[in-house]
Amino acid sequence: MQELNRKRVLITGGAGFLGSHLCEQLIEKQCEVLCVDNFFTGAKDNIKRLLENPYFELIRHDVTFPLYVEVDEIYNLACPASPVHYQFDPVQTTKTSVHGAINMLGLAKRVKAKIFQASTSEVYGDPTVHPQKEDYCGNVNPTGHRACYDEGKRCAETLFFDYYRQHGLRIKVGRIFNTYGPRMHPNDGRVVSNFIIQALNNQPITLYGDGSQTRSFCYVDDLVELMIGVMGTEETFTGPVNMGNPTEISVKELAETIVELANSRSAIEHRPLPKDDPKRRKPDISLARSQVGWNPRTSLSDGLIKTIGYFADRLGTVTALPLRSRTQG
Ligand code: NAD
Ligand code: UDP
Repeated sequence: MQELNRKRVLITGGAGFLGSHLCEQLIEKQCEVLCVDNFFTGAKDNIKRLLENPYFELIRHDVTFPLYVEVDEIYNLACPASPVHYQFDPVQTTKTSVHGAINMLGLAKRVKAKIFQASTSEVYGDPTVHPQKEDYCGNVNPTGHRACYDEGKRCAETLFFDYYRQHGLRIKVGRIFNTYGPRMHPNDGRVVSNFIIQALNNQPITLYGDGSQTRSFCYVDDLVELMIGVMGTEETFTGPVNMGNPTEISVKELAETIVELANSRSAIEHRPLPKDDPKRRKPDISLARSQVGWNPRTSLSDGLIKTIGYFADRLGTVTALPLRSRTQG
């Protein structure tokens, strides 16, 4: 029987990087957490500390199929997030975003749950305005290698807003910018995990292009705090809201910082820039500030030190990266 006063929260993609941190935070906040995952990129290891908790439940399920459960809130995070993973099976990536959104919105409608969508800065594509504000409609190549993810996430946003307008659903849409921290998948090819593992192994740092492209990196704890904050905003607030740390850094500077912080002997090696790689990315977070009263608290160096520590502890199990399968430009 459900315990009185405990909110029942469904997290799809709960065994992934962001999802596992969110599961932990919500358990700490006395919620009952139902974690749904098909383990495409997630792992039981990420949530192993929760498996014995009586308020935590794990279901192996693919969100492209309907799900029938009773919950009060849904965080829809299921979707591979790194370019290497989402380009591995692009058709399944689009299905996960679109069919997954339809199934979770259908569930939210049936049980009258509030629902959060983990959207992405990729909806802005290779942006022509800087920094990116929520009213910028983006510059996405609909037929390129990133389109399965970008367009899938854009369509999911469309579905969320149509369910809101047509069925009066309580929705929250968050556009997440690059986030990093412990439990990133070691072989997913994302820049922070790649550079840290290379630096710890004193292997060459694979810098794509000249490294002048920029990103703005948010530490996972800050991001999860914002996700919960967005879910708790007043009913009339739907987003979309940018979620990220606005401190912008070039990828070259990131490589140099990681080499220094990891006390590494790695040298930088240039590789071709992948096609459609966004040149600049930085969120305007004034909406998150005004609606949630949120500000990122973790500096890049503090967050990198924690993340380097996490990967250093796992060095025995994390070996050289496989060849990056991402399409090179
Ligand atoms: P992740 O790959 O670690 O987690 C995704 C999780 O979803 C995994 O556990 C995976 O097994 C699961 N999953 C994938 N397809 C599924 C399916 N069909 N059914 C059920 N489960 C499925 O990625 P992450 O970094 O934790 O990202 C979580 C969410 O946040 C994603 O929706 C992603 O698009 C979004 N996001 C993340 C970032 C970031 O920098 N980490 C940036 C923007 C958006
Ligand atoms: N990148 C790099 N070397 C790597 C991995 C990534 O130079 O080993 C660059 C990549 O080209 C991009 C940035 O780092 O400009 C961020 O890449 P990531 O895949 O982490 O995320 P994206 O923001 O592109 O989705």
